[in-house]
Amino acid sequence: MNKILRAFFLTEIVKGFLLTLKYMFFVPRVTINYPHEKGPLSPRFRGEHALRRYPDGTERCIACKLCEAACPALAITIEAEEQEDGSRRTTRYDIDMTKCIYCGLCQEACPVDAIVEGPNFEYATETREELYYNKEKLLDNGDRWEAQLAANIAKDSGYS
Ligand code: SF4
Ligand code: SF4
Repeated sequence: MNKILRAFFLTEIVKGFLLTLKYMFFVPRVTINYPHEKGPLSPRFRGEHALRRYPDGTERCIACKLCEAACPALAITIEAEEQEDGSRRTTRYDIDMTKCIYCGLCQEACPVDAIVEGPNFEYATETREELYYNKEKLLDNGDRWEAQLAANIAKDSGYS
């Protein structure tokens, strides 16, 4: 009998409707309207790679190749030569982002905080070729994200 009454008065539908209204107006949202809204990211977030410069514009990288040696995916290729002033600089710094497993070991290995994984995760491409990063692309990334990269490194410095 109860079952017939419930069916007659559509109680299940009314209960479902009330539940919908409750979640529409009285329960805080747990979703965000991406890409217009973005969630918080840890300072240790391992996103797109970048090569950083010093404030005077000099490249930080000293071509020691520790990042290349540390990379378990063999994604980094570096060539270097001595400059007129006796310093070593890279003539080629490539990262094959299709091989990269975002382990962060390149960043850990770097003695001068030159190669870093930044906060950018929006770099999907339509072709594989676009994911073969060269030195120019990595330095551009560094220039674009430097303020946030420096802030993240400063936040994390007390824990390393
Ligand atoms: S994050 Fe890991 S896999 Fe990617 S380039 Fe750096 S060391 Fe290699
Ligand atoms: S990015 Fe850092 S670890 Fe890699 S070659 Fe340059 S200085 Fe060395």
